[in-house]
Amino acid sequence: MRHEHSPAGLPHYDLYINGAWQPASSKQTFTVFDPANGQPLATCASASPTDVDRAIAAARSAFDHGPWPHTSPARRAEILHALADALEARNFELAEIESRNAGVPLRKTTYNDITLGIEILRGCAEMARKHPYEPLPWNDLPSVSWNFVWREPIGVCAQIIPWNYAFCMAAWKLGPALATGNTVVFKPSSLAPLSTLAIIQAIHELNLLPKGVVNLVLGPGGEVGEYLVAHPDVDKVAFTGSTEVGRKIMALAAPHIKRVTLELGGKNAMIILPDADLDLVVDGVLWGAFYHSGQLCEAGSRLLVPHALHDTLVSRLVERVRTMRIGDPMDLETDIGPLISEQQRAKVERYIAIGREEGATVVIGGRRPPDEARAKGYYVEPTIFTGVRPEMRIAREEIFGPVLAVIAYEEVSEAIKIANDSIYGLAASVWSRDLQQALAVAKRIRAGTVWINEHHVLNPQAPFGGYRQSGFGREMGRYGLDEYTEVKHIHVDLMQRRQGRLWWDTLL
Ligand code: NAD
Repeated sequence: MRHEHSPAGLPHYDLYINGAWQPASSKQTFTVFDPANGQPLATCASASPTDVDRAIAAARSAFDHGPWPHTSPARRAEILHALADALEARNFELAEIESRNAGVPLRKTTYNDITLGIEILRGCAEMARKHPYEPLPWNDLPSVSWNFVWREPIGVCAQIIPWNYAFCMAAWKLGPALATGNTVVFKPSSLAPLSTLAIIQAIHELNLLPKGVVNLVLGPGGEVGEYLVAHPDVDKVAFTGSTEVGRKIMALAAPHIKRVTLELGGKNAMIILPDADLDLVVDGVLWGAFYHSGQLCEAGSRLLVPHALHDTLVSRLVERVRTMRIGDPMDLETDIGPLISEQQRAKVERYIAIGREEGATVVIGGRRPPDEARAKGYYVEPTIFTGVRPEMRIAREEIFGPVLAVIAYEEVSEAIKIANDSIYGLAASVWSRDLQQALAVAKRIRAGTVWINEHHVLNPQAPFGGYRQSGFGREMGRYGLDEYTEVKHIHVDLMQRRQGRLWWDTLL
């Protein structure tokens, strides 16, 4: 897959179709960049519709004629564990690939992202063992019978992911799809495909999956992605990305009534209750807002603070931000890396300008780091706005950058109302010493995940996904596996009374 001597002198990656690395039929390529310095890292084959057709045909054939959908869950689990072992052996290398390509600080990829992705694969393997069969409670209506639910793979799954959390996201899409016996055509983001390519290479080297079960296409979303989603031989689309593109995906999938799961954007609130432990809050809120420079769908981007705590908390946050290290993501000491691209930085800077125009105040950050060392990367300083009102655009729209909007509130009921006043509903966090009170607030938040005294922590056993325009469907846990199966009810009659015959006899 990797030719050290590509024309540009960079590592080059091909498409992966039917168990083999293959160049794009058009011979077109695109370049992947290092966001910390703007330098090219690799080139990739850019798929044409002909290549996507070939990838889908391989997945279709592997599903319709191959052994994979009928392979026992135990065997599938063994293969996923073998993949997890192979990736675990390369943990540090994978962390470096992800950090260099996506600009994620190495401390995070080393100690969180790669490990979490691997744990998700293992979790899927274990859950799949028991997943297909679910006995139904005994009943004798309409006749004495044995009833159970059998879960079957859906078929060919198109899986499309964004550039953030790329390794984890690839694991949490491939894991449940494979554990339940589907075949896959995978498309990573063109901005950060390298960690996904490493997973595909591990799959190739293991050589345990039948050919065509996993295929990879690369290239621009608007072309390769749309063609893949609309293709009549794709049975399910699992998409993670922006709400804007999610709307298009739904429309493209509609003509064939494809199964669709959408994991989309968020504008997640962190609600500080009046009795919160401020020591915990300061670190927790900054982690919630600025982890991976705020480029996470579940990042806390609105901070709701009681008026009485506002000034103290803001000054402590500012003081702490001053100690954060912005720099090379490959340095283990770095807290804040670059944004993924020049375009993303321009978007974030536009929102900072909008916030100022709307009358909010930047209390720290709001600019590029001034020094020469970071001038070539796509850096923006962690930025905190105060004086934010809920109707401002910086409080309503997803910025996807290191920008935190602080909103002061009087009553807890007002905070809940502000938190819920959003088109999104992905995640939130509630901070309080009183767990009972925190739980009462958590229950009233319209979001798929609510952390109490924590933010961001993903649990391989727990469902993750959105309310409202943050999408639908859940990933991870047994809920994630459910999304990759069709549900079949099987009724075994135990009466031997020939119900059908009796019925006709009554009528005639
Ligand atoms: P994006 O929507 O621009 O792209 C996501 C993926 O879709 C990429 O692979 C892209 O190539 C592809 N794509 C783009 N246009 C397409 C089209 N018309 N048809 C098919 N595919 C297309 O998003 P992004 O900028 O890469 O990622 C950031 C967004 O992802 C944010 O909105 C963030 O909130 C969201 N996100 C959500 C979750 C979640 O779990 N809810 C997780 C991570 C990121």
